[in-house]
Amino acid sequence: MIAYLERLVHENDTESIQNDNEDNASVCKGLDLQGSIDYGSTGFAAKDFGGIQSHKPLAVVRAADADDIARVVKFASRSTNLTVAARGNGHSINGQAMADRGLVVDMRSTDNIIEVKGFYGGSTYVDVGGGALWEEVLKRCVLEFDLAPRSWTDYLDLTVGGTLSNAGVSGQTFRYGPQTSNVTELEVVTGKGDIVVCSETQNYELFFSVLGGLGQFGIITRARVMLQPAPDMVRWIRMVYTEFDEFAKDAESLVTQSEGDSFDYVEGFVFVNSDDPVNGWPSVPLDPDQSFDSTRIPRSAGPVLYCLEVALHYRNVDQPSTVDMAVDRLVGRLRFIEELRFQVDLSYMGFLLRVKHAEQEAKASGIWDAPHPWLNMFVSKKDMASFDRLVFKEILKHGVGGPMLVYPLLRSKWDNRTSVVLPDDDIFYIVALLRFSPPHPERPPAKELVAQNGEIIKCCIENGFDFKLYLPHYTTEEEWKQHFGNQWTTFVERKLSFDPMAILAPGQKIFSRTR
Ligand code: FAD
Repeated sequence: MIAYLERLVHENDTESIQNDNEDNASVCKGLDLQGSIDYGSTGFAAKDFGGIQSHKPLAVVRAADADDIARVVKFASRSTNLTVAARGNGHSINGQAMADRGLVVDMRSTDNIIEVKGFYGGSTYVDVGGGALWEEVLKRCVLEFDLAPRSWTDYLDLTVGGTLSNAGVSGQTFRYGPQTSNVTELEVVTGKGDIVVCSETQNYELFFSVLGGLGQFGIITRARVMLQPAPDMVRWIRMVYTEFDEFAKDAESLVTQSEGDSFDYVEGFVFVNSDDPVNGWPSVPLDPDQSFDSTRIPRSAGPVLYCLEVALHYRNVDQPSTVDMAVDRLVGRLRFIEELRFQVDLSYMGFLLRVKHAEQEAKASGIWDAPHPWLNMFVSKKDMASFDRLVFKEILKHGVGGPMLVYPLLRSKWDNRTSVVLPDDDIFYIVALLRFSPPHPERPPAKELVAQNGEIIKCCIENGFDFKLYLPHYTTEEEWKQHFGNQWTTFVERKLSFDPMAILAPGQKIFSRTR
């Protein structure tokens, strides 16, 4: 049977695969899966949110459970060239969840448990399948138990395994660290096909390898995520600044304050100083009833402005005056343009699902399905003033057709035993250029936007900025070595321990399959 599959890989004859139902059935039988293998409808696994790359797999595996996944990986290891990619929700930008003529395991089709558990060492946690969406986790935990994970991403149609393989960053990261700092145990299928439970104290090398490991060391089939009581409501506030240094000082002071002295969520973004409906002033108000009074912008303002975005949790029993006082106390110390402050109150779930509305609008207008050459990076605090001058005020002064997020994070909240690589500074900024634009010819073709990303990276290198790509994409070993810096040797050693034949996550293009 292995020879049969290899012949198919070599011949790249997917047409005949589709038609050969009898042989497909025999492969499934040979593998003895509870789930199924699909050789026909593989097109979705050749696409991702980025829409820039496309690589068709040999087959899509709908594994029922971790045992199925282990069988698939073992099967691939007995072949000479098969690779296996876990596909979460395919929200990568550069084909990271694809397997060119390999096997794609569709993690969404696995039975993704979401089970809230009791008090483990004094804290509550939820066990979730690697293919569960964060939105599913949110709804289950809040609606049934009034509990919630502590650390989120902005958008929740991402899988638990997909974000844990990167980091998982949002406005709570300054306090609790990324999502990778908020899991206590994982069940993983390694590149050898072993099912291993790991944590800080059990098989810890695998645990820390997998967190932020770009899918290189194992497929996460279960994660134990820490929970906290869920608030009922959130006050969501945006405040506008003219100068980057004032915006940055206020944002940094908020993220370094202790818990009672700050907001529960701190983010920020750059926008264009114009009436452009997507990139400019209209992108700031939080409610259609609010309007942006541009006469309040000082004449000295440059081509871009800055918006600090914060949120405070509260409970239904809290008096409105108590919430007002708490907000006034925190906001009173900040130096934004007084008249350019916007706020709304909404439910906690409504707040965490806030990007859903943008998704629905983007789907309706067709820009959700157009290419998204996004660029995400971490930049040291010491280089942010120059980054602002050279990148935001020059290269990106007309915007990117979507949010340009920029907000500070604390290195101390990240565990340096994981595979994630960060700049050296104690404070660094996430810069996320979330490009949304209608398909060509209405807007520049994707390759021009990719070239602009290249220009930004080149600018960072030429000016000696201390930065790392988040959700990195490189194609040569030299670039990956550079990316990992002094963590490269460890990364390679971990690969040799847990996936010595380089079967897993070939779409990251870090290692090549060996025999
Ligand atoms: P996929 O794209 O399917 O997979 C990503 C990589 O992880 C692949 O290499 C894949 O093989 C591997 N992988 C997938 N599942 C597993 C598993 N179970 N075990 C091991 N490896 C696995 N990121 C943030 O940090 N914060 C944000 O706020 C944020 N917002 C986003 C909003 C949008 C609209 C989009 C498109 C992306 C956003 N991201 C954000 C990025 C997101 O975290 C990554 O793209 C993540 O990889 C997507 O998860 P996914 O489930 O779609 O993974």
